[in-house]
Amino acid sequence: MSCATLAKGLLDLDVARARMIAAAEPVQGVELVALEQAAGRVLARDLSARHDMPGVDNSAMDGYALRLAELSEAGLPVVMRVPAGAGTASLPEGGCARIFTGAPVPEGADCVVPQERVRLDEAGRMHVVGEAKFGANIRRRGEEYREGAPLLSAGWTLNAAALALLASQGIAEVPVLPRLKVALISTGDELIEPGEPFAGGLVYNSNRVMLKTLLEQDDCDVLDLGIIADDPAALRQAFIAARDGADLVVCTGGVSVGEEDHVRPVLDELGGLLFHGVAMKPGKPFAFGYLDDGSPEGVPLIGLPGNPVASLVGWHLLARPFVQGCQGRTVGPLQQYRVHAGFSRRGSPGRRELLRVVIDWQGGHPVALLAGGQGSHMLHAASQAQGYLMMAADTDVEEGHEYPYLPAGQFVD
Ligand code: AMP
Ligand code: MG
Repeated sequence: MSCATLAKGLLDLDVARARMIAAAEPVQGVELVALEQAAGRVLARDLSARHDMPGVDNSAMDGYALRLAELSEAGLPVVMRVPAGAGTASLPEGGCARIFTGAPVPEGADCVVPQERVRLDEAGRMHVVGEAKFGANIRRRGEEYREGAPLLSAGWTLNAAALALLASQGIAEVPVLPRLKVALISTGDELIEPGEPFAGGLVYNSNRVMLKTLLEQDDCDVLDLGIIADDPAALRQAFIAARDGADLVVCTGGVSVGEEDHVRPVLDELGGLLFHGVAMKPGKPFAFGYLDDGSPEGVPLIGLPGNPVASLVGWHLLARPFVQGCQGRTVGPLQQYRVHAGFSRRGSPGRRELLRVVIDWQGGHPVALLAGGQGSHMLHAASQAQGYLMMAADTDVEEGHEYPYLPAGQFVD
């Protein structure tokens, strides 16, 4: 999208995202944690293989291990039995071994024939039905990787398969980066917490549980400072507590330019603003700056909009990549592919729009349908959406045409 089409004073979404990513400073330090405690943590150092994988030649099947050259019409006597976990041994000449998946292939054997492809005669001799091939069904020592080969790189988020990989190397403790501590502030005089009695004009705090969940899903340590009134003095006090207790401050609401919006003036006073306002819908009143803590950069502050869906979109596209960068994680580009729209809709002037959609597989082809109402306060569609259809500014959606689709799976690990 060219900047010429942007609404006045707003930053292009790609530019804002690039700035967020560039501004992220990875947390310092290393913690050694037990493998079972390491899920979701970020690897602090490159790890390499301690052993060849597999460690020994082993059988890929339940069957019989033999020397191909000894195979004849007469069959082979079964002279040994090698279950998984057995030590290494040699195959006596002229015989074959009963062997099981994962068991070490006895020295001398050069082929494993699956049990489904053999016949045992009355004398107990093993005959191969069909062909046997040299090296068949043997997983060779080191065929996946050798000792010393790179396993996982610093910055990798330890998912279940990565933990299993480390376990397969006998690694019981992992060097990880410290958890990022994030202070969370909800602002608004109208806010009450779920469970409290409802009264006209009040609004239940949706953003608190949403953002706390998103931060925790990304393995942040959340310092929840609750609801702060629309009052500069209260906000000032909350920002100072947040700054002193966390690596990053995330607040929602009060970030527009109304008289009751105090985030920006208090941020100006306690630190500095880097940018405010992004040409996106929802999510326009996004602010990013620093609270001065005496250090050169201070503590970063992200001001998310109060409208819950705007807050969610701002998290996904702008705040999360910054958090990932601060966690020492590698931030990839947005994953997108083109899908057909199953609806038509007027475009958004001056702002890129992120429509909450579901994918309907029509004849094997993905077609995007609106997940529900698209207001920035409408959480129902956001709760149903499988991704965003990303519309350039001033561009109408025309049914049957293709547009970029951002699957939501990329926003969680
Ligand atoms: P604001 O950005 O403070 O002007 O708020 C914009 C809209 O979002 C208003 O309708 C607020 O009531 C609503 N809002 C602000 N914060 C929250 C919150 N934490 N949970 C739900 N709605 C909110
Ligand atoms: Mg407000």
